[in-house]
Amino acid sequence: MNNVLLFGEKEFITGVRSQVQELNELTITTAVTTAEAIASARHSPPDIIIAHILKLVDHSIFKTFGPNQNAYSIVIERAQSDGSRHCQQERYSQLEKIRLEKTARALETGADAYIWLASESAACENEMCESEMAIAAGVSSTHHSLATKIKAQTPQTRQRSAWHLQLDHSRLIQAYIQSGLHRNQRYRNLSRTNDWLSAVALNDSLTQMSNRRAFDIALPDQIQIARAKEQHLTLMVVDIDRFKQVNDRYGHLVGDEVLRSMTRRLSGNMRSYDSAFRYGGEEFVILLNGTDIGEGSEIADRIRQSIADNPFRVNTSHDSHQLITIALTVSIGVAALNPEDDGRGQSLLHRADQNLLKAKASGRNRVISEVGM
Ligand code: GH3
Ligand code: MG
Ligand code: MG
Repeated sequence: MNNVLLFGEKEFITGVRSQVQELNELTITTAVTTAEAIASARHSPPDIIIAHILKLVDHSIFKTFGPNQNAYSIVIERAQSDGSRHCQQERYSQLEKIRLEKTARALETGADAYIWLASESAACENEMCESEMAIAAGVSSTHHSLATKIKAQTPQTRQRSAWHLQLDHSRLIQAYIQSGLHRNQRYRNLSRTNDWLSAVALNDSLTQMSNRRAFDIALPDQIQIARAKEQHLTLMVVDIDRFKQVNDRYGHLVGDEVLRSMTRRLSGNMRSYDSAFRYGGEEFVILLNGTDIGEGSEIADRIRQSIADNPFRVNTSHDSHQLITIALTVSIGVAALNPEDDGRGQSLLHRADQNLLKAKASGRNRVISEVGM
């Protein structure tokens, strides 16, 4: 269902509703005041806004709903009579000039479509103009009675019937709605593709774990959140020990399989609010939210121990039924966010890396951490 917001006086709403309601799959909401329209757009964002121009702040969609409003907006204006008695040709070119100016201004200020309806009073005057000429020429008494009838109408009667006179425009309004719905559909398809591309761009294709690009985005975010909430944040860098030997001995396909298993193993050891990333090669980074250096070091050591105690069982590259067992260890460097760390997380990552190097240098299969905040 597509949501259409009609924004105007009651007569406008009734008139436009009668023209659009035959379209399928539209839910129509209405607003008479600007406050109602804004609240309605916030509460259930419309796909299409059809607004009477006089209801818009400064006659502008942007100023009324803000520049980021995604709805397709159709602004409708009823031409006001200029009270002139110029006849046809001159009058037509004047109206056309005004119409072009108004269309340009409406589009410039945020409308996607602009409809200028010939006003009832302008129409009346035209008819009166014609009838008066006819009478002057002594042609017809029907024109005379029409002119008398129109003159007899009160302004309220004219106002009320004004939107009913515009039935001819229903095709145009409906066409704009269809065009808006098509545009929205294209936009939705595009955002879906964008979401998919972002997911692809942020995921490592071998392990399906978040990749380094995702980490580069997540780390500054997590630091900001930790600081705003005054929470601890601990980071660990996990590197598989002597992984090159796995490739050398069993081949790269087995190495790949081990990396996938390692990913599952790490993810299985994490809490729901931790996040893990494949930083590169056989190196992973894990962010532990709300965790201080002491607890972070314990978690790191549990992971290290579990990997050392449970060798990996993977298929050999040449026979998918034959399992081989590969004993592995990891070295882990841990660091916790401190107040001096930069917001991008470079100094934090650097300390964890330094600790990883120390773990490697001091014999591997160990965790080196530091006192943080
Ligand atoms: P260290 O204990 O010092 O970390 O030794 P290491 O052998 O693990 O480290 P080194 O940096 O010497 O080698 C890393 C190896 O990881 C070499 C590279 O071929 C392998 N590697 C990196 N990415 C992949 C991958 O996607 N698949 C496979 N199969 N191997 C990978
Ligand atoms: Mg390694
Ligand atoms: Mg490495």
